[in-house]
Amino acid sequence: MGSINLSSIEKWFGEAQVIKGIDLEIADGEFIVFVGPSGCGKSTLLRMIGGLEDISRGTLSIDGRDVTAEPPSKRGLAMVFQSYALYPHMSVRDNMGFSLKTSGAPKSEIEEKVGHAAEVLKLEPLLDRRPKDLSGGQRQRVAIGRSIVRDPTAFLFDEPLSNLDAALRVEMRLEIAKLHRKLQSTMIYVTHDQVEAMTLADRIVVLEYGKIAQVGTPKELYQRPANLFVAQFIGSPK
Ligand code: ADP
Ligand code: MG
Repeated sequence: MGSINLSSIEKWFGEAQVIKGIDLEIADGEFIVFVGPSGCGKSTLLRMIGGLEDISRGTLSIDGRDVTAEPPSKRGLAMVFQSYALYPHMSVRDNMGFSLKTSGAPKSEIEEKVGHAAEVLKLEPLLDRRPKDLSGGQRQRVAIGRSIVRDPTAFLFDEPLSNLDAALRVEMRLEIAKLHRKLQSTMIYVTHDQVEAMTLADRIVVLEYGKIAQVGTPKELYQRPANLFVAQFIGSPK
């Protein structure tokens, strides 16, 4: 379960239209990457899917259910940002289990889910550490772990690696690809990094000022860019 359907989605901030009618069908388990220049609306679109921004017009459905007006908590999605605000006074284990604890999950369930997330993300040896004793990449893994424990229908990532140095970015990109293979969950991933887009995506959505310039597999976009904008963005020789 994790198909997501966007139908004629628009976003207006006052008089300014930032998202100009987006239609997109995302299949269960697909890895979708949004790319496009700064300010083209990637974060706004992702935030609308996550429920952090109202949808001005159009319809959003998840697994066939209209969630356009539903609050984030009822959408079953997990959002992972570049600024991973971990609780500094809590161990990795408690950071990962915190949201389950606040929603009243029994201790045994919390232990099981945190254990599973730690295994998937290779965080087992770090469970008793505090965030300050972790590297940037390890912290980002804990942030992802916090979202895994809630068994989300889909993951939404907004430039999750942009705060990391180049070597760590490569390592974490491979981790995220592995995570997708293991969990088989739908993932929507925003980046301005072409390498991340080309290597992670099943399909890439190229956004140009609030509109879709092209949707396709990395290969399709590279070999047959719809226009010069896409070609320049993907780096193909058109
Ligand atoms: P991206 O993530 O692709 O860089 P954003 O989605 O952050 O782009 O922004 C798209 C456009 O919407 C930009 O022109 C930005 O200035 C504008 N925008 C984003 N959030 C707001 C807001 N809360 N109020 C007004 N304008 C906004
Ligand atoms: Mg953004």
